[in-house]
Amino acid sequence: MRKYQCPNCKEYTIDVLQKASLNIRSNSRCKNCGKKFGLPYIYSALLIIIVCIAFYFTYISNMNLIIKGTVIFLILLLYYIVNITVMPIVRK
Ligand SMILES: [Zn+2]
Repeated sequence: MRKYQCPNCKEYTIDVLQKASLNIRSNSRCKNCGKKFGLPYIYSALLIIIVCIAFYFTYISNMNLIIKGTVIFLILLLYYIVNITVMPIVRK
């Protein structure tokens, strides 16, 4: 599986699940150097705001429950995809 580079020691020590679990509040530690890394605050906050707006419009829409559930699932899926693929990892 693909690994991501630690911003501190530059070794490829961060796996996909570890990256997916990062969010605005949670940082993680590198297995190699033991230093903390996480997501940039601004990008992470922006992504959460977009997800909240998407949830809100799904919630107030007239779609039936099954479609609403599917849309919410897709929004969450998209959130994790963006978190894993687009988000840079920075030192904390
Ligand atoms: Zn490291």
